[in-house]
Amino acid sequence: MRVERVLLKDYTTLGVGGPAELWTVETREELKRATEAPYRVLGNGSNLLVLDEGVPERVIRLAGEFRTYDLKGWVGAGTLLPLLVQEAARAGLSGLEGLLGIPAQVGGAVKMNAGTRFGEMADALEAVEVFHDGAFHVYCPEELGFGYRKSHLPPGGIVTRVRLKLKERPKEEILRRMAEVDRARKGQPKRKSAGCVFKNPPGQSAGRLIDERGLKGLRVGDAMISLEHGNFIVNLGQARAKDVLELVRRVQEELPLELEWEVWP
Ligand SMILES: Cc1cc2nc3c(=O)[nH]c(=O)nc-3n(C[C@H](O)[C@H](O)[C@H](O)COP(=O)(O)OP(=O)(O)OC[C@H]3O[C@@H](n4cnc5c(N)ncnc54)[C@H](O)[C@@H]3O)c2cc1C
Repeated sequence: MRVERVLLKDYTTLGVGGPAELWTVETREELKRATEAPYRVLGNGSNLLVLDEGVPERVIRLAGEFRTYDLKGWVGAGTLLPLLVQEAARAGLSGLEGLLGIPAQVGGAVKMNAGTRFGEMADALEAVEVFHDGAFHVYCPEELGFGYRKSHLPPGGIVTRVRLKLKERPKEEILRRMAEVDRARKGQPKRKSAGCVFKNPPGQSAGRLIDERGLKGLRVGDAMISLEHGNFIVNLGQARAKDVLELVRRVQEELPLELEWEVWP
């Protein structure tokens, strides 16, 4: 187990966030010890806005045994989803194609029920192991209240591993489907971001609403509303959380949009 003071901007895809004590755990025993004081769990940091003052609780990161995987058995929750999508395709196993391009860890993807219009994480799950209240519990997906980009894990629950529901399929078929998902993602910015900032209001696209208001390109410090996609805020280099929040505030002044990201602390 490694415990170190870090800046969370180095652990989030937006590249924003202040100091925290990072607990990198490699075994189930270490995870138990790390959770003996108040904590938060970090996945790949791709749906987070961490404030500049940082986080007072321990921030737990899954490594070691939590990053090992067997596509036909248990998959550690610290495994990167993009790696799994590629490995499943290589093995001729279908079920993860719709998740192509989502820069999550498996645990973060379960918690957020990450997905696209081609499929979501919950569809690919057979079982989920969650650590809470000092013990490891196995749930079937129906017990975890999956909905649109959300789940209902037990309070303080940490997803530790999952079993996937994958079907054998010809590789060409899987690759064709992945190419289709990839085409649909083409408009997404390549700069540092944390994915979509706002939830889509029912039947509407937050990105289109922002574009129609002429807000693309609006900038505070190094945080900017992407020119490519109105629902992305990109970090042009040294953006601070306060810049990002000010941009969010300016959009919300014009449009009643709800934040998609989780804000820490
Ligand atoms: C370029 C880009 C494109 C994106 N595209 C999509 C998309 O198409 N579809 C989509 O749904 N999302 C998308 N996202 C958003 C993001 O990838 C998802 O929300 C993803 O599920 C977050 O996973 P993470 O591992 O990064 O979690 P984090 O951002 O680290 O954490 C998010 C939440 O999950 C919790 N969490 C993390 N790991 C665990 C665990 N093991 N157990 C319990 N809780 C945990 C955290 O505590 C936090 O509450 C995109 C993001 C980026 C940057």
